[in-house]
Amino acid sequence: MTEPEMTEPEITEPTVEITEPTAVSNDRPTDGALYELRAVARRYQRGSTPVDALRGIDLEIADGEFLSIEGPSGSGKSTLLQLLGALDVPTTGTLRFDGHELTAASDSTLTRIRSEEIGFVFQQFNLIPTLTAAENVAIAMIPQHRPKPERRQRAQELLERVGLGARVEHLPSRLSGGEQQRVAIARALANEPRVVIADEPTGNLDSESAEGILNLLAEVRAGERPVTVLVATHDPDVAGRAGRRIRLRDGSVVEDTGKAGD
Ligand code: ADP
Repeated sequence: MTEPEMTEPEITEPTVEITEPTAVSNDRPTDGALYELRAVARRYQRGSTPVDALRGIDLEIADGEFLSIEGPSGSGKSTLLQLLGALDVPTTGTLRFDGHELTAASDSTLTRIRSEEIGFVFQQFNLIPTLTAAENVAIAMIPQHRPKPERRQRAQELLERVGLGARVEHLPSRLSGGEQQRVAIARALANEPRVVIADEPTGNLDSESAEGILNLLAEVRAGERPVTVLVATHDPDVAGRAGRRIRLRDGSVVEDTGKAGD
């Protein structure tokens, strides 16, 4: 697909109130873990060479946690996020999400969990360039068979919630990077997920826009319904905002700080 011709956008960032970053506390009461990973391993095959991307991960994640996953490139962050997002299953070990054993789940169960329980946010925003902000959000609700007027109404509300109420009819090319990531977050929230998974969500943003996205993710997590936010990042500012931080090295968890209940 070719990119639409870019016109010079007249962009003003939404005013972002810069407050001293504080880590989000994970002091929410929980009944059992949302995720339970036991001895989770993921082996890829590169030609005839096996690649052990994850080697025996034991991890519990409580409902409503804001967890950052750190580690050098190649340490297994994306692989772990793919497992937590039900995009992939472990080679060995067990992974329970909300009581479902995903390792043994059918494709239709994995698809349902992905579309109903999980919202994804990517470094490159992944918006459809020919659709407006509102359409990019509304399209995420099609698999849920929500009627069109309801989809439109909810897209409008979600875009207002992320501070883009005045830009609902803009194409992505008319939005700044920070605004595009706000649209992506609105899209991720469209089906009221229990989990938002973000892979380097501020990797393409300047520090002011990144701060706005972090504030937004913290707001999302602390909304009326608890949303668990899982962020893979290289950015110490992002990780510093998370209540809990885990660090991967060579496919293993080598550090876990700020766990709920600790
Ligand atoms: P990170 O996100 O921390 O950079 P990844 O999870 O992407 O790490 O990768 C972990 C390891 O698994 C790396 O050695 C990477 O090359 C390898 N890997 C990831 N995906 C695949 C794949 N589809 N096939 C083969 N090897 C892979």
